Amino acid sequence: MIQITDHLAEIRRRVTQALVDAERAGDDVMIVAVSKQQPVDSIREAFAAGQRDFGESYLQEAIAKQDALLDLDICWHFLGRIQANKTRLIAERFDWVHSVDRARIAKRLNDQRPESLAPLNVLVQVNQGDELQKSGVGENEAEALARYITTQPRLRLRGLMSIPPAGANPAEKSGFFSRLFRLRGSLSGMGLPMDICSIGMSGDFEIAIAAGSNCVRIGTGIFGPRGSAANR
Ligand SMILES: *Cc1c(COP(=O)(O)O)cnc(C)c1O
Repeated sequence: MIQITDHLAEIRRRVTQALVDAERAGDDVMIVAVSKQQPVDSIREAFAAGQRDFGESYLQEAIAKQDALLDLDICWHFLGRIQANKTRLIAERFDWVHSVDRARIAKRLNDQRPESLAPLNVLVQVNQGDELQKSGVGENEAEALARYITTQPRLRLRGLMSIPPAGANPAEKSGFFSRLFRLRGSLSGMGLPMDICSIGMSGDFEIAIAAGSNCVRIGTGIFGPRGSAANR
């Protein structure tokens, strides 16, 4: 049980150090603990260690875990691919969505967001490597989708998210992260609300923070390997 608590402390320490190294000491970085394919007991342990933001990628799995954790005041982030026929549960059960990649999905999330809840925080996912298997708009389509989201009253545009192409080396990742950070800056300069740059995972969050990230999504670095026998 002590392991997750220790991992979390180590990740927080490394985030703080990366900020110092980037001469950004004092900046806030949101740490989203990515709990996909991890058991509810692990989420409880991280919560007990002070973690409040948790990310999930698979809707059915996420809903089952949310139902088992209703006693905890968790801020839930949806990170996965969004099917149009699954938007209602995302709109009803999550606080943030990092993976909005088309206007049709944005409209459905808006229309299905319950009036009793605050507007849904959304990020535009950018597919920087134009990988076919990955969600996300191209870099030059991000502005149009971001503008559309600002017309939707039940959505609150917060920024951009990206996952660098599979197989990118650290220098290439640094380039993708810096480009996303600059894109966020130019859209922000156009008056679009863009306070969040969601880049960086267990293997590359220090590179992302050096490039300007203020939201890292950490799975294995906190919880260990996903879906191992010990988790079933
Ligand atoms: C799984 C996942 C993560 C976490 O990945 P780790 O390498 O385990 O930290 C982060 N972001 C997204 C979108 C994911 O799907």
